[in-house]
Amino acid sequence: MLKIKNLHAGIEGNEILKGINLDIKPGEVHAIMGPNGSGKSTLSSVIAGNENYEVSEGSIEMENENIMELGPDERAHRGIFLSFQYPIEIPGVSVTNFIKTSINEVRKARGQEEMPAAEMLKMIREKSDLLGIRRDFLSRSLNEGFSGGEKKRNEIFQMLMLDPKLAILDETDSGLDIDALRIVAEGVNKFRNENNAVLLITHYQRLLDYIKPDFVHVLSDGKIIKSGDKSLALELESKGYDWVKEEA
Ligand code: ADP
Ligand code: MG
Ligand code: MG
Repeated sequence: MLKIKNLHAGIEGNEILKGINLDIKPGEVHAIMGPNGSGKSTLSSVIAGNENYEVSEGSIEMENENIMELGPDERAHRGIFLSFQYPIEIPGVSVTNFIKTSINEVRKARGQEEMPAAEMLKMIREKSDLLGIRRDFLSRSLNEGFSGGEKKRNEIFQMLMLDPKLAILDETDSGLDIDALRIVAEGVNKFRNENNAVLLITHYQRLLDYIKPDFVHVLSDGKIIKSGDKSLALELESKGYDWVKEEA
């Protein structure tokens, strides 16, 4: 699905990612944990093609094709979804209209026709029910006055609707109360299947109580310094990050 080799990237001549290697296969959920400032958000932005970051070395392949030269829209059309990519407020554009436009834009880029209105409506009902999203929420202006939890819910709703191949969720747990966290986790668990993959970036182990990762990686100072299974997350929760750094 995604293969990252020796990725070095930074901003304004300042190197943030210092040689990342990561191999994500279909059906897998990878969690990336690490202290604040270790480069987690940078990594997700670089995978999604954020042009503010300069890649100085290494490669990213999606389904065995080099995507380094592709812009963020093209990467999205190929099936890479990054939460927080659209945290914009759009007065007068509803949650529903925004998602309809996004879906049809992707279809257009792939040379497909617009999704028939009835099919779209059915899908919207199905996915919003899955997340416990009320109908009146769907007609609200996008992100306008949304609480932290509502923003997260909307992001997960977008993810389920767009049905990407690779979903990157960056700190989807921050600002979520425990009930909303469970709903988001349930959404991710319903999204997971053998043909897609999830990269979950978090510094809270509690999210991993609900979304069981296949692999956990520790990012520190721009490098993955340890990888393991979900028991590593529990170990980090009780012992912190220092022992991993010393070991590395
Ligand atoms: P994390 O998500 O793990 O907390 P980030 O990727 O946000 O880490 O940041 C890693 C480092 O890169 C930090 O030192 C941060 O200050 C720096 N950094 C990230 N984005 C920018 C930016 N747009 N401009 C300048 N420095 C940045
Ligand atoms: Mg941070
Ligand atoms: Mg971050």
